[in-house]
Amino acid sequence: MIDFELSESSRTTQQMVHAVAEQLMRPIAREYDEREHEKPWDFLNTMWQVSSANPIGGERKKEGPSERNLTMCLSIEELSWGDAGLYLSIPNSGLGGAAVAAAGTPEQKERFLARFASGKPKWAAMAITEPGCGSDSSAITTTAVRDGDHWVLNGTKIFCTSGLMAAEKSDGFVVVWATLDRSAGRAGIKAFVVEAGTPGMYVTKVENKLGIRASDTATLVFEDCRVPLTNILGSPEVPKTSEGFKGVMATFDATRPIVAASAIGVGRAALDFVRDTLREHGIEIRYGAPPHTLTVLERDFMEMEVQLQAARLLTWRAAWMMDNGMRNNLEASMAKAKAGLVVTLITQKAVELLGPLGYSRKLLLEKWMRDAKINDIFEGTQQINQLIVARRILGYSSKELS
Ligand SMILES: Cc1cc2nc3c(=O)[nH]c(=O)nc-3n(C[C@H](O)[C@H](O)[C@H](O)COP(=O)(O)OP(=O)(O)OC[C@H]3O[C@@H](n4cnc5c(N)ncnc54)[C@H](O)[C@@H]3O)c2cc1C
Repeated sequence: MIDFELSESSRTTQQMVHAVAEQLMRPIAREYDEREHEKPWDFLNTMWQVSSANPIGGERKKEGPSERNLTMCLSIEELSWGDAGLYLSIPNSGLGGAAVAAAGTPEQKERFLARFASGKPKWAAMAITEPGCGSDSSAITTTAVRDGDHWVLNGTKIFCTSGLMAAEKSDGFVVVWATLDRSAGRAGIKAFVVEAGTPGMYVTKVENKLGIRASDTATLVFEDCRVPLTNILGSPEVPKTSEGFKGVMATFDATRPIVAASAIGVGRAALDFVRDTLREHGIEIRYGAPPHTLTVLERDFMEMEVQLQAARLLTWRAAWMMDNGMRNNLEASMAKAKAGLVVTLITQKAVELLGPLGYSRKLLLEKWMRDAKINDIFEGTQQINQLIVARRILGYSSKELS
C-alpha cells in the first residue's frame, strides 16, 4: 500500500519546529549572516536544550519500521525554512554523528553519541575534503599509521562544517577520513573519531563564505595526532576490494536526504515569500485556470512549486526507505541531486521575479539565493550525485563510469 499521509506525531513535530523557525530563526537570520563568525548563543543554547532532550543521532532503539528519518527531514525542512546557516550551526551530533551511526560498532555509538544527551552544547563534524581531494575520495592523502595502542594521523582537511565548534569549542569530536594504505585506493580509507582537544589537531582557518554564513567551515590540520586504536570506525583490516569503503560511504545514504530536506526548506522560504509579496500586490496564482489563460508569472510559479514538490517526494522516499531498513543509496543521491538543482533554480528565479526587492539586502531573498548553492556542492556535488544515480541504474562500477 502506498501512503503519502504524514502521521499525527510527524505533523505535530513539523508544526512545533515551524514555530521555532518563525519565532527564533527568522528574526536573527540577517544579523548572523552579516556577523559571519559570531555565534547566536541564546538560540544555540535553546536548541541544545531541545536536541539534547531528544537526541537524533543515536542508534535505533527498536527494531522494525520507524518514522525517525522522515520526521528528521520534516524538521530540517522547517529549520532551513527559518534559516539554513543557523540550522547548520545548531549543536548536535551532526555529520560526525551520522558517520558513527552508519559505520560504528554498538559500543562506539554508545561511547561517542551519549554525550549529545546532556551537559553543555556539543558539535560533531566530518572531515573528508582535502586541499587536493574532494569528489574523488580515493585521492585522500591524510594518513593513519598504527603505533602501539594508537593511530597517528597526519594531514590537512578543509571546508569542514562545524569544524571549529567540534574540534575546539565544545566536548565534541571530528570524524576524520584517512588512509591506512594509499596503494589500496578506496579500500584503504577508514574513518577515525578524534575527540575535541586531542593534541595534534588544530583549527588553522575559518572560511568567509558566499552563503550559510552563520555556520563555521574550518580547516583542520593533523600533526602526529594520536587517537586510541578503538577510535577507528568499523574494522581496521584493509580489504582486498573497496567493499569496506562502502561502510564509510553509507554515511552519505543517511545524510544526503537531510541535505535535500534542507535545500527544500530554503526553496520553500523563497516560494512562500514570492507568493506573499504577489498577494500584497493583488496578484493571486490562479490554480486550476485553463493553461492558455495563465500568465508567464503564474506558469513560472507553478513550475517552481511542482519542482519543489518532486524534490520533496524523492527526499521523503529516501528517508522512508531508511526508516524501513531498506538500502537507499540510489534514492538518496536522486533526492540530493534533484533538491540541489531545484533550490538553486527556484531562489534565482524568485530574485528575478521580484526584481529590486529580490536583490535588496533589506529582505532575505538574496540571502536564500546565496544559501541555496551549497546544496549543489557539499555531500557530493550535483555532478557526483548524478554519476551515482547513473551507475546504480545502469549497473556500472565507479571504475567503469567515472
Ligand atoms: C560550505 C562548505 C561546507 C563543506 N562542508 C564539508 C564537510 O563538513 N566535510 C567535508 O569533508 N567537506 C565539506 N565540504 C567540501 C565539499 O564536500 C567539497 O567541496 C565537494 O565534495 C567537492 O569537492 P571539491 O571542492 O574538491 O571539488 P572537485 O571534486 O575538484 O570538483 C570540482 C568540480 O568538478 C566536478 N567534478 C568532479 N569530479 C567529477 C566527475 N567525475 N564527473 C563530473 N564532474 C566532476 C564537481 O562536480 C565540481 O563541479 C564543504 C564545502 C563547502 C563549500
